[in-house]
Amino acid sequence: MIKVMYKGHRSVPMVCCDICGSWIDDADAGAAVFRKSVGEGCISEVLHTHKGRCHVVAEERLGGQVKTGWHELRQHLQLLVFNTGIPPAALQKLEDGNGF
Ligand SMILES: [Zn+2]
Repeated sequence: MIKVMYKGHRSVPMVCCDICGSWIDDADAGAAVFRKSVGEGCISEVLHTHKGRCHVVAEERLGGQVKTGWHELRQHLQLLVFNTGIPPAALQKLEDGNGF
């Protein structure tokens, strides 16, 4: 899930685990778990989780390992940014400005 943390005078978006609720502050430590497609155009709910126990619980919640797939959180977020039309230059601008 996406949450906002208030820090200073800013509201900073963060990805939190849909199972334990805590912040996933390292994309390499997270996963995006979803039900496998049952056909063209199928849209599935996604659970963002920590790898390990939270990932296993998410798979169980969505019907078990056989019925679910997952992406590395890093890849999932990259695809999400790409699919929302955010140009790479906009990300570079954030990087150049030391983030948000
Ligand atoms: Zn978790």
